[in-house]
Amino acid sequence: MKFSKSLQLRFMLFLLGAGVLPALIITFVLITSYESQMISSEIRRLNVQVGLLSGEIITSGYLENGEAEGINAELTSVADSYAGRIMVTDEELRVVKDTYGMYDGRIFLWENAVIAMQGENTSYYDRDNSFLIITAPILSQSEENTPIHGIMMMTESTESLESGVEYVSNIGLICLIVVVLLMAALSGLVSGWLVRPLHELSSSINDLGKTNESSITSNAYSETREIAESFNHYQQMMRVLDDSRQEFVSNVSHELKTPLASIKVLADSINMMGDDAPIEMYREFMGDITTEVDRETKTINDLLSLVRMDKSKADLNITITNINELLELILKRLEPLAAKQEVELVMESFRPVTAEVDEVKFSLAIMNLIENAIKYNNAGGWVHVSINSDHQYCFIRVEDNGMGISEEAIGHVFERFYRGDKSHSREISGTGLGLAITREAILLHHGEIRVSSVQGEGTVFDVRIPLSYIEEREGR
Ligand code: ADP
Repeated sequence: MKFSKSLQLRFMLFLLGAGVLPALIITFVLITSYESQMISSEIRRLNVQVGLLSGEIITSGYLENGEAEGINAELTSVADSYAGRIMVTDEELRVVKDTYGMYDGRIFLWENAVIAMQGENTSYYDRDNSFLIITAPILSQSEENTPIHGIMMMTESTESLESGVEYVSNIGLICLIVVVLLMAALSGLVSGWLVRPLHELSSSINDLGKTNESSITSNAYSETREIAESFNHYQQMMRVLDDSRQEFVSNVSHELKTPLASIKVLADSINMMGDDAPIEMYREFMGDITTEVDRETKTINDLLSLVRMDKSKADLNITITNINELLELILKRLEPLAAKQEVELVMESFRPVTAEVDEVKFSLAIMNLIENAIKYNNAGGWVHVSINSDHQYCFIRVEDNGMGISEEAIGHVFERFYRGDKSHSREISGTGLGLAITREAILLHHGEIRVSSVQGEGTVFDVRIPLSYIEEREGR
């Protein structure tokens, strides 16, 4: 069994995904919100710092006379403490102080500086280079609508902040790995538990032949119960089929052996009598032997017809056939038998019917019915064969006023080797295969056959077959 195709693997992956995916999302959201929280609190801190410095710059008149060593030193020490840089410009954005000493006296034309000149604080975080820049207008805090004297830009290295974020990320990653491992173990256990009833079901099917059990049960899930029930049902069907096969084989050997046994007894008797036996006795015994040989031949022929019916389900030789003509031909062939039995044979045709049938098999089916109606009849009786159709089906009825079939026998007449009433079946020759052959042939044509009978009064066989043969139609 390929594990990659197993249901357990699918369950495992599903459970793992269902557990790990939310943990992954939560970890990611927590780390990014922690980082943005750290950055915004840093921006607030820098803005406070810039506000304080701006106040000092205004009160000291630093921008007007560019003097004040104390301010210069303070700007440098603050910038150093943030591992960054401070730039101060006047209202024309000319740099008055750059703690890096690179921009002094130059015009500082940067988008954020221009925005700050309009009175707004801005911030810019460069994650790739690990620094944060804020720009803010320099204005006197005491006055409202006060004019903007310049701007201050302050940068801060965010390396220490990022190492904090990295630390938190590492903890998050470790937690994630722990969750993945736990979920992998859990999903392995749960998926194994989920599919266990299926393994049990398959091993109880495998063990069936080894134990005394004849059926399986599985109540773990309603699905497994359904599978077990279907399997038991299928098994039951197979058993019935096997029984009927065995019965068929034993019937066949019995039917083939009986005439041979009679022939042997007759031949032995003649041998034992030797030359003393009268010629009449010879003739009588030889006549009996011929009857037994005929019986054996008939049984073998009927068996062959039946086997052919079974085998040729797929290769019917379907042709468009005039059914009226076909019936007339069958009746003509059976006329001598009817005359011998003193039975009147009548055919009634309600309309001309053509249908798609296998002529040989269909003839055999109808011939068996008419032959039986003649055989199981009384001298002076009649057999009535009628044919009719509608737009879809052809109907054939074979009716007689003969011996009829007992209620007990009527359910069995289509079974192989079944011969009705033992008293008359001994006198009337037959193999018990005729109606089985008829039924097979009618089913091959996707038709139906029904029988009704009253013992002592007569029997009616009704056959219905579709006018057009449809290959894929379910016959039984
Ligand atoms: P067979 O005629 O060789 O015995 P069939 O399969 O043709 O075998 O018929 C099975 C049994 O059904 C017959 O033995 C007979 O008892 C009964 N049967 C069939 N057709 C008729 C009929 N028309 N009238 C009375 N009994 C019938």
